[in-house]
Amino acid sequence: MHVTIIGAGLGGLCLAQGLRQLGVSFDVFEKDEAINSRAQGYRIRIDETGQLALEQCLSPQHYALFLRTCAVAIPPVKTVDAQLRPLEEKWVDDWRDAKANTRSDLRVDRALMRAVLMQGIEERVHFGKQFSDYQECDNKQVRVCFEDGHQHTTDLLVAADGVYSRVCQQRFPAHHIRDTGYVCAYGKVVLNAHNRRLIAAQLRTGTSVVFEKNIAFVVDCMEFEKPVEVGAMSMPQDYVYWALIGSSHAFGIGAHADLPLSLPTLRQQLSHVTRTWSSEVQQLLELSADTEITLTPVKAAVAPAPWLSSSICAIGDAIHVMSPASGLGANSALYDAKELMSALRQYPTKDLVQCVADFEEKMLAHSFSAVQSSDVGTRQLLQAGAEEKCS
Ligand SMILES: Cc1cc2nc3c(=O)[nH]c(=O)nc-3n(C[C@H](O)[C@H](O)[C@H](O)COP(=O)(O)OP(=O)(O)OC[C@H]3O[C@@H](n4cnc5c(N)ncnc54)[C@H](O)[C@@H]3O)c2cc1C
Repeated sequence: MHVTIIGAGLGGLCLAQGLRQLGVSFDVFEKDEAINSRAQGYRIRIDETGQLALEQCLSPQHYALFLRTCAVAIPPVKTVDAQLRPLEEKWVDDWRDAKANTRSDLRVDRALMRAVLMQGIEERVHFGKQFSDYQECDNKQVRVCFEDGHQHTTDLLVAADGVYSRVCQQRFPAHHIRDTGYVCAYGKVVLNAHNRRLIAAQLRTGTSVVFEKNIAFVVDCMEFEKPVEVGAMSMPQDYVYWALIGSSHAFGIGAHADLPLSLPTLRQQLSHVTRTWSSEVQQLLELSADTEITLTPVKAAVAPAPWLSSSICAIGDAIHVMSPASGLGANSALYDAKELMSALRQYPTKDLVQCVADFEEKMLAHSFSAVQSSDVGTRQLLQAGAEEKCS
């Protein structure tokens, strides 16, 4: 059996590692020219679900390497108002640190985590290969076509190509992704000596969450203990990650604004949103390098109507994108990778399409519950009233 994975994000690479453990032949095709060719977020919280999935898809030595690249553990989340005064009774149920008897979240740098997940499979991950479409052949195989004219035949095609998945557009043409009406801006400030002096101590230790009506601001300090060799990638410098999430109305950009905003407009909107906030928050935003700031619309998948399984399936954001408020998207992508790997363990005793069906049943139950939780988490985070529920 040969598996073709489209997309070398966290889900696609974790699945590739799982297949490597199983001894199944695979190839990963990624449209970007290189692993580091564009910024893709900075900090990801890996909860217990994600940790268990990684543990199963990676060898023990590889999982130990992953653990060594995580940021230093920090005290529990502080909840504050826009003047950075402590707030009681503000919480988002899905934040795992609040729950007893579960593993604490790990905090990882997304780019570094991808580099860790590339280890040992470099030759099977092909960059600069943009998927275009596929054809199902009479012999049950799938012909996969790329924008550069290259074609490739496989037994199982896995869409791991993120929110605007082209594979899913062809496989599930009725699949609907809704615009939640929220947007998320994020960025980072490197903790060099100069910035350490300028950033308020409260914002460069642990995690702080500012709760305001219709908008929330998350600040997370990422410090790394010791340098670890991860292929050609060096450990990132310590940094402060921030994310501002809120209704497009609260951002003052209108529900139908053309995104992405130009950098001067984005900077202007960030200053506008935080104009009455603590000067320490404003300072943090000002210190963020232009290249590090991004604003993205918050999308959420609508649970699809049942379908007949085939040799084409999907994992991660490709099939169940969700709001980042609860920190469940990447963890769900890792869960999918683990479940697909487990289902394929039954092959050839079980028919390949039956293995896919077993996987899809678990993926749908788990992930669409995570999409719903993320909607609830968004409302809790933004303290949105019933009239402002995600549409
Ligand atoms: C600000 C922010 C913070 C977040 N924080 C968290 C968090 O703390 N915890 C958490 O669990 N989740 C978090 N998320 C969500 C998380 O980032 C996503 O759910 C996760 O990255 C999805 O992984 P994926 O592998 O499915 O897709 P992606 O990571 O999007 O990877 C898809 C890959 O496919 C490639 N691709 C796309 N089209 C093609 C094509 N046609 N051909 C070939 N390749 C293609 C892309 O270039 C990309 O590399 C956050 C999201 C945001 C925006």
